Amino acid sequence: MVSEDNLNSVSMEDDFDGDDDADDTGVVASRRPKQGYTVLKEADIKHRQEDDISKVSTVLSIPKVEATILLRRYNWNVNQVHEEWFADEDRVRKSVGLLERPVVEVSDASKFTCGICFESLPCDNFASASCGHPFCRDCWKGYLCTRINDGPGCLLLRCPEPSCKAALGTDMIDKLATCEEKEKYSQFLLRSYIEDNRETKWCPAPGCENAVYFAVGCGDFDITCLCSIVLFSSLAFFVFY
Ligand SMILES: [Zn+2]
Ligand SMILES: [Zn+2]
Ligand SMILES: [Zn+2]
Repeated sequence: MVSEDNLNSVSMEDDFDGDDDADDTGVVASRRPKQGYTVLKEADIKHRQEDDISKVSTVLSIPKVEATILLRRYNWNVNQVHEEWFADEDRVRKSVGLLERPVVEVSDASKFTCGICFESLPCDNFASASCGHPFCRDCWKGYLCTRINDGPGCLLLRCPEPSCKAALGTDMIDKLATCEEKEKYSQFLLRSYIEDNRETKWCPAPGCENAVYFAVGCGDFDITCLCSIVLFSSLAFFVFY
């Protein structure tokens, strides 16, 4: 565990995390790469992803669920999210499917009819996304199960009502998916953070689960992963995949 902590601190670059242990400073200085890249272990990836989500949520004053949807749609590019949002919030909301208010009036009827199975059931058997389209919980569960098991496309899910563009966020997954599906979804979310972000890539060594963050356009130099075996050139970095 101690050695793992040391390795972990080597992976942290001050520029991004600023939380290296003071005790490790000597080790970090001697082993820190001369060029700008950072090796990220799974915990680092989660940490950075959460940081980015918090940043967008704070700057745009929107819930974290919506910040996550936005970041995913813009390939985890925080600056681009900020720029696009402040240039034209309405356009961004429309294209991404972030509604400011429900499109369906929430009625106070004691029963609803599900838009998928057409069963009429008491209203507490229903759930809806931000748009308000009511579907029974069984139909929601079936919908989420199918889409999550289909693969990472579930990160771009919309309301099951065909004409509705409302994006579904992690709140709906938390509320309606099984534990196994939630786990799958959060793995897809984590992988997307590396695979859809143009400045990060997985280490290509078989069995290694680290990723590398690399600032584009910093010239050519060798990148060494924490698995220590693999050396690859920064220019080849983006050709590799
Ligand atoms: Zn139903
Ligand atoms: Zn809807
Ligand atoms: Zn590696």
